[in-house]
Amino acid sequence: MTAQDHARPQTSLHARHRAVLPDWLALYYDDPIEITHGEGRHVWDGDGNCYLDFFGGILTTMTAHALPEVTKAVSEQAQRILHTSSLYLDRPMVELAERIAAVSGIPDARVFFTTSGTEANDTALLLATTHRRSNQILALRNSYHGRSFSAIGITGNRSWSPTSLSPLQTLYVHGGVRTRGPYAALDDDAFIAACTEDLADMLGQTGGEVAALIAEPVQGVGGFTSPPDGLLAAYRELLREHGVLWISDEVQTGWGRTGDHFWGWQAHDQAGPPDILTFAKGIGNGMSIGGVVARAEVMNCLRANSISTFGGSPVTMAAGNANLNYLLEHDLQGNARRVGGLLLERLRAVAAGLGIVREVRGRGLMIGVELVHPHTDTPAPQAAALVLEVAREHGLLLGKGGGHATSSVLRVAPPLTLTVAEAEEGAAILERALRTADTELGGRSER
Ligand code: PMP
Repeated sequence: MTAQDHARPQTSLHARHRAVLPDWLALYYDDPIEITHGEGRHVWDGDGNCYLDFFGGILTTMTAHALPEVTKAVSEQAQRILHTSSLYLDRPMVELAERIAAVSGIPDARVFFTTSGTEANDTALLLATTHRRSNQILALRNSYHGRSFSAIGITGNRSWSPTSLSPLQTLYVHGGVRTRGPYAALDDDAFIAACTEDLADMLGQTGGEVAALIAEPVQGVGGFTSPPDGLLAAYRELLREHGVLWISDEVQTGWGRTGDHFWGWQAHDQAGPPDILTFAKGIGNGMSIGGVVARAEVMNCLRANSISTFGGSPVTMAAGNANLNYLLEHDLQGNARRVGGLLLERLRAVAAGLGIVREVRGRGLMIGVELVHPHTDTPAPQAAALVLEVAREHGLLLGKGGGHATSSVLRVAPPLTLTVAEAEEGAAILERALRTADTELGGRSER
């Protein structure tokens, strides 16, 4: 400690954060948590409190905290060399690219590594707009695709879109939100037909050659909403007629998280694979890996050099390879399906008696609990904030999200190694927190 440190008044980490970081860098909880370490599905804060982690640092701690296989691969690689850049051959990068190409389902696939999901989507947009020689993009309403200038321009969720300036002309289409909006009352087939007619109409109005449609198979930040299975296949059929590319943003849905499928697009697999797939978050289990997969003809359309200084760095790639091994060897997709299925059932049973829960939805270990003012359709972000606080007090970390500028959907997305006992424990805490919020908002008194 320096003399200066001694002289500095004792200031909380929260106050120091606020004094030096941007105001728009959102923090969870009235009294934000400093997470100091983790193991398995648990994390600990600076005061020694232990929490069951049902958010995994925004679906990024995909397998487990401090997974020995990943930690060992990282530390062994770190002892050899930290950085070389993409100007040199990088064995761990080639290995991970080969494996991702093989599991992507995209024929003649090429893989480009970035350091985040934003940069992956930015690259996908560069490829699609160059390949099609057009800056027109179709995106789904309520979407989130990242925080860069280009990614914000295709983000329909307005609470995450701080500017309307954009290098792209973006047209927003229906389909991402099943149970709200003008088509909500329709059955699945009629919903798909109405959305497809709307897309056809939109394509007729663009007056140009649209480059691509980008879609999250399950909208993450938007509150774990998704179209009926098959909608993206119907879109794909129409887009093909116009030569429009399909970009599947699998930043949250990839690697088996949805249980039923390895990729979210496979819920629409009559369509075949997308032209471009983007990934990030879970593959590095916390190391910063993002990337794009596209068939060679699309990936190779750029006519100038492009490199990434950090993308594909040996340490992150070592983590990715070890993490993917673990995921496949332990069939974590199967675990997400089984344990996620039990958790979904359990939460639906809890919700059945509570006026503040409008819907419990999801697939695998990607479950959304939408909260409203009791027995209405009006979003209740204050209920979601309260549930987060109460769950935290009882040792459970959750996420939240949602559309229309409200965070009224609880997001449940634990690491994919979650055990049945942990699912039960988390569900019991969540039930308690939901009951508290329901009482507070007058849910039971109204029944
Ligand atoms: N796409 C989706 C679907 C996401 O959920 C996110 C992050 N929440 C991103 C892109 C951006 O990823 P990153 O934060 O790594 O830039």
